[in-house]
Amino acid sequence: LSMRRIPMNKGRVFIISGPSGSGKDTLMKKVFEKAPDILFSISSITRPMRVGEAEGEKYNFISRERFEEMIANDELLEHNVFVGNYYGTPKAPVLNAVNDGKNMLIEVDVNGAYQILEKIPDAVSIFIMPPSLEILKARLTGRGTDEQSVIDKRLFEALREISCAKDYDYIVVNDDLETAANEFVSIISVDKFKTDRNLELINKILNK
Ligand code: ADP
Ligand code: 5GP
Repeated sequence: LSMRRIPMNKGRVFIISGPSGSGKDTLMKKVFEKAPDILFSISSITRPMRVGEAEGEKYNFISRERFEEMIANDELLEHNVFVGNYYGTPKAPVLNAVNDGKNMLIEVDVNGAYQILEKIPDAVSIFIMPPSLEILKARLTGRGTDEQSVIDKRLFEALREISCAKDYDYIVVNDDLETAANEFVSIISVDKFKTDRNLELINKILNK
């Protein structure tokens, strides 16, 4: 046992990735119903708003100029270009949440996940897997939000993303929504028992 000073607990960052159409959005809404105390990171993006989306809910829809300013000012924890548009995670809300001891979910593509893990090595990564490529295709088409050419590009990206799934800590298959949401919540729930989340308790007992 080393005598090094035991640091205080901080909140955990959970990184969520998965191919477009795997159901991340749908699943996160369910997860929030079951675990309302978790925070979600709102990304800044330059893609046009889809029908059914609202400013500030999941995304802040900003101009390319403003996005490039955020990059230049080092306001982003990570960023990436996906199918021709910028997507990025604002740094300040994530750092504030973690310092306040709160859990934060960040949805990013695999490039974003690697960037976050370099800066926050103890982040927990979860990959949302579609049950099959056929089902993924059917969900992307069925969602009815993208043109066929965009769907084709998203399917191409999907194969690349799925080939990176092996680098994630956990895989949740989104077949039955309710089951997948329960599995996801169980991963978050078990995290509070990890040793690095209980250092304050150890300190308290030793200092008595
Ligand atoms: P993503 O956020 O990963 O791009 P979405 O949440 O938009 O994916 O889901 C893509 C489509 O698949 C949506 O039309 C959604 O209603 C549907 N979907 C998501 N999860 C399931 C599921 N478990 N079973 C059936 N359809 C689903
Ligand atoms: P969509 O256009 O379908 O909403 O998202 C496209 C892709 O961008 C998805 O893989 C999604 O996970 C990813 N994404 C969403 N927000 C961010 C972000 O802030 N940073 C990065 N790198 N990717 C993101």
